[in-house]
Amino acid sequence: MHDDAGAWRRKLVVLACAALLTATSTVGCAGRCRAAGVVAPPAPEPPKPAFEDVVLGRSVEGNDLVMSVLPGGPETVLVIGGVHGSEPTSVDVARGLLELLREQPEMARGKTVAILANANPDGYAKRSRYNANKIDINRNFAATNYKPAMQAAVRSGARPNSEPETRAIVRAIARLRPDLLISIHSIGSGRECNNYDGPAEQVARVMSGHNGYPPAATIGYPTPGSLGSYAGIDRQIPMITLELPRTLPGQAAWDNNRAALLAAISAAEPRRRLTAARGQN
Ligand SMILES: [Zn+2]
Repeated sequence: MHDDAGAWRRKLVVLACAALLTATSTVGCAGRCRAAGVVAPPAPEPPKPAFEDVVLGRSVEGNDLVMSVLPGGPETVLVIGGVHGSEPTSVDVARGLLELLREQPEMARGKTVAILANANPDGYAKRSRYNANKIDINRNFAATNYKPAMQAAVRSGARPNSEPETRAIVRAIARLRPDLLISIHSIGSGRECNNYDGPAEQVARVMSGHNGYPPAATIGYPTPGSLGSYAGIDRQIPMITLELPRTLPGQAAWDNNRAALLAAISAAEPRRRLTAARGQN
């Protein structure tokens, strides 16, 4: 009896050792198989595309005019906020887009997206429509309809492109050759719209489906020397002037326009390169 019990204990020890060896050899096999390439190791995460900052120039008061570029495919969308410093929610919306795409670059759907969130930092600091020279950037572009004027209502400067903020935007357009340009502004409540110039009516309609603002071929008054005239009409770059309702706070403006901006980016298509044929001003 005593011997039998001893024999069973020895058998149990042998069985336990065998089980341990099997388990060990299984682990070892898995390691060897991976090394032999039979079982693929988990693929490393591809690096996320990241924004690169480009300094386009300096404002009259020496502030950097920074454009952040998220590299993607050949279709390129340029988004501009704050051309009028008295419309600060346009900067909030542009920054909202920048922060969203920083966190989730895949939402750009492979498009190259460039964001100049604050195109007139001197005016923004003073909440002034104008730059530090008291010129309206959005009347200072070398569009065919440019008019030199320094009246109270229209301060377009003594000559087109006289202002560094204007030239920075011209530089961005020349460098990027965007397939879609969106400049964000704000306007009196009830007049908010997706204003389009050049071949951008379809994009305006897409945005309208998300932000509820009507597509509009005109905002109802002439805008000589505007970016819409320069880029949209003269150069046929699809151009949206997104006019936010001015009384809407920045966060609400971003919430209301997030989907519209992402849809516009997604809808951007390669445009025919008409710039050379139409000449440069
Ligand atoms: Zn404006």
